[in-house]
Amino acid sequence: MISESVTNLIDQFAKLPGVGRKSAERLAYHILRSHRSESLALADAIRQVKENVHHCKVCYNLAEGDTCEICADARRDPSQLCVVEQPRDLIALEQSGTYNGLYHVLLGRVAPLEGIGPEDLTIDALVERVRTGTIREVIMATNPTLEGDGTALYISSRLADFPLEVTRLARGITIGSVLEFANKEILADAMAGRQKF
Ligand SMILES: [Zn+2]
Repeated sequence: MISESVTNLIDQFAKLPGVGRKSAERLAYHILRSHRSESLALADAIRQVKENVHHCKVCYNLAEGDTCEICADARRDPSQLCVVEQPRDLIALEQSGTYNGLYHVLLGRVAPLEGIGPEDLTIDALVERVRTGTIREVIMATNPTLEGDGTALYISSRLADFPLEVTRLARGITIGSVLEFANKEILADAMAGRQKF
């Protein structure tokens, strides 16, 4: 008979993406065996992230203050705006080290089959940034999937009347793959070789 607390811990781990029941049990028993301080550090890290991290008021990247580090950085070029689906895509592009403009994080993609429409994303806020800002180029860096492409197409139609250039990442990335798993060199090439939308 396993104790209720252990069962609860296993249940919590099993809810995580990619963690099956067996892995959840292994993780729970690892926690039981490890030092108290180590396990509580994990619990604290989870609590801190949930209490301190939210979305940047400007670009919807993850931030600990009102705005994220990128929006707050005066060395970034405010005339370029790169549109990504998720904060993790932004991180992948940052690691490629080729881009020095600002970002806009959609927090998802248009997915009609899942009932996710444009109004569920941060597209209105994006259009407002474009309307009031000094942006000259919007770079579509949604994933090269059917839904990512559809989302980019929808956004480009919303931006059609603004005096700016809309570009997209070059297709170095295999169709159907996702940005977060592309390697640095491929992302750098995709950014450098971007084309008119
Ligand atoms: Zn930001």
